[in-house]
Amino acid sequence: MTLSGQGQGPALVPGRDCGSCSLCCILPDIAEFDKPANEPCRHCLVGGGCEAYDVRPSTCRDFFCLWRTDATLGDEWEPSVSRMMMYAQGPQLTVLVEPEAAAIWREARYLDWLEKRARVLKPQGGYVVVYAGEEVSVVKA
Ligand code: SF4
Ligand code: SF4
Repeated sequence: MTLSGQGQGPALVPGRDCGSCSLCCILPDIAEFDKPANEPCRHCLVGGGCEAYDVRPSTCRDFFCLWRTDATLGDEWEPSVSRMMMYAQGPQLTVLVEPEAAAIWREARYLDWLEKRARVLKPQGGYVVVYAGEEVSVVKA
């Protein structure tokens, strides 16, 4: 679940912004700053935002979660609603869930979509993996 820079990514979905969400600054481990998983980065500001925004490393600069780049995701996937963030690495889809809401991804409104995506990725050798607190699950395809 380590976050690394994604390079030039896909275009952002118009009309979506991060707002007060900071999940991608909290849930992943980021080796570059020795940041462990599920702990806020030392640069996180209370209420959202980054105190080091202008000098943030490319790992942060290049990163947007799937909700910011995939217009097919519905409003229920907004990270502040779903309590999780997703990102693709090749044919793998990684889902990081807030430990305080660790079971939410199993709700039908999310699990149905995750299973469908797992079926799409399987022929490419891909899969969907969910990190929720201490639990790691591969979604059945
Ligand atoms: S998880 Fe997504 S919506 Fe939340 S701050 Fe990161 S990129 Fe923005
Ligand atoms: S440096 Fe800023 S953008 Fe990067 S993880 Fe920390 S708070 Fe988030």
